[in-house]
Amino acid sequence: MLLRMSTLFLRTLREDPADAEVPSHKLLVRAGYIRRVAPGIYSWLPLGKIVLENVTRVVREEMNRMGAQEVHFPALLPRDYYEPTGRWTEYGDTLFRLKDRKGADYLLGPTHEEMFTDMVKGEYSSYKDYPVTLYQIQTKYRDEARPRAGILRGREFVMKDSYSFDLDDDGLKRSYEMHRDAYIRIFDRLGIDYRICFAMSGAMGGSASEEFLAPCPTGEDAFVSCHDCGYAANAEAVVTPAPPAVTASQPPVRIMDTPGTSTIESLVAYVNERFGLGITAADTLKNIVVKVRTPGSDEIKPLVIGVPGDREVDFKRLEAALSPGVPEIFEAEDFARYPGLVRGYIGPQVLKALGITYLVDPRVVDGSAWVTGANLHGKHAAHVVAGRDFEPDGTIEAAEVRAGDACPRCGQPLSIDRGIEIGHIFQLGRKYADAAGLDALGPDGKPIRITMGSYGVGVSRAVAVLAEQRHDGLGLVWPREVAPVDVHIVGTGKENQIEVASGLAEEMEARGLRVMVDDRSGVSPGVKFKDAELLGMPTILIVGRGLAQGVVELRDRVSGTKEEVPVGEAVDRVLLACRPTPQA
Ligand code: ATP
Ligand code: MG
Repeated sequence: MLLRMSTLFLRTLREDPADAEVPSHKLLVRAGYIRRVAPGIYSWLPLGKIVLENVTRVVREEMNRMGAQEVHFPALLPRDYYEPTGRWTEYGDTLFRLKDRKGADYLLGPTHEEMFTDMVKGEYSSYKDYPVTLYQIQTKYRDEARPRAGILRGREFVMKDSYSFDLDDDGLKRSYEMHRDAYIRIFDRLGIDYRICFAMSGAMGGSASEEFLAPCPTGEDAFVSCHDCGYAANAEAVVTPAPPAVTASQPPVRIMDTPGTSTIESLVAYVNERFGLGITAADTLKNIVVKVRTPGSDEIKPLVIGVPGDREVDFKRLEAALSPGVPEIFEAEDFARYPGLVRGYIGPQVLKALGITYLVDPRVVDGSAWVTGANLHGKHAAHVVAGRDFEPDGTIEAAEVRAGDACPRCGQPLSIDRGIEIGHIFQLGRKYADAAGLDALGPDGKPIRITMGSYGVGVSRAVAVLAEQRHDGLGLVWPREVAPVDVHIVGTGKENQIEVASGLAEEMEARGLRVMVDDRSGVSPGVKFKDAELLGMPTILIVGRGLAQGVVELRDRVSGTKEEVPVGEAVDRVLLACRPTPQA
């Protein structure tokens, strides 16, 4: 490949786009890799398209290597397939729904479990046919509530999705492990820094679902890790170890006047000073009301969540815990409809009578006593005991996870970081096979219900993640495997320098390198250097003033090292830089 910048469809920008907040978005737009069409919808320009294809190639090679077979589904799908699994409604506002000219319902596929299940059902019938793993690399559509950061969270994006079909649980585990290994190879080859984290609550210590998270300060996911035992989990999946139930008997409930205690801190200070309770914020029970909307129905139900007062409710954890239900803010007009809920003074004592569901943090164990709202304006209650003065309807993992919290596996303090989800592997089990009635005829003539796994890689997101993890103050710094070209040759100024640069470019291309040459005339050396740094090819060769002395400058974009080499050795030196002999 030889790209000539004199004709390349590329315009770099000196200024960051106004709507860009994160580095990858700024740099990919400025360097002319992508262009915005609408929120969360982007076009790929030539250099961006090459990077996307390079990522795609790595993913495809590794999927093929593990024995998965590539197929391709339409993105435009009729509603019927998504009805039996309930996802036509469960997907809520995230699903793009549309109608054809006859008024029939269609959707733009957000993920394809239903379609793959149906395809396998159509072709396979005997136990001898299994196992099988199919995949596609395809454009997905999700009307994300918060599209952001360019192609990091798009409403149209490229995903590799695969699905394994097995006769039994052991088979599913094997398919899952094969995917896990393939993902490790994919992300290692792409040069992405990642952690494998438990992803599904309840799967603590198991491996029913794991996410590949790329550590990144701008990431939307928080994940915990334990440096002692190696446990790592998405914060959404962290299971709070419940303390033992309390058996000691407690004094009766005491109602206290607590004027001017609008924050937990002021409440704690006040009751300690005035009533000598000697409590901390962790001894108070904070009750948060939300309303929960069930997708596809008009039903909106209030829900109260009780968490120890020293912790905030983490909205992402709450969303994950309630899914497919969608939590929304409980507004002033909602309070007006529930006069029993005294804003700022809600206690769980009255919720049963009000018919409102109450879910508590796992730390609120049977027999534990709390300072909480008295359901009267300006009053709180002490010695409110779980199981005696209120009965929660269950527990919920909605309280924030903090650095220093005990590791659920070994008890050591956890650390917490931010990351971007680049891959997700998931043992689905029989949910989709049940909905579709996907069976194989067993050796004894009896049907065997198939068990499935589903596995995704964010292909277009991986481009953004690489830009996010691999850049410096000057621009992008692509790892060689995904870089648009191996070497960027800059011919500065004079005709003869551009001519020599072009000659070297042709020679290198003939030797099998992917090359870009800046052969633009009338563009200053300063602009060309800036562009070369912004565009981020791993090796840069400068054919400039030194040519008079017979030398060119070889730059390594990653290490920043510069070296003068005789022009006659340039091709060999670049080849060496681009193809380092593999280490044993
Ligand atoms: P997220 O939690 O980030 O919304 P998800 O869990 O909904 O992602 P999956 O359904 O597991 O995503 O999709 C598989 C992969 O597709 C994800 O791991 C991610 O890399 C990628 N992906 C998901 N949503 C988007 C998006 N809106 N834009 C780009 N890539 C995405
Ligand atoms: Mg996911």
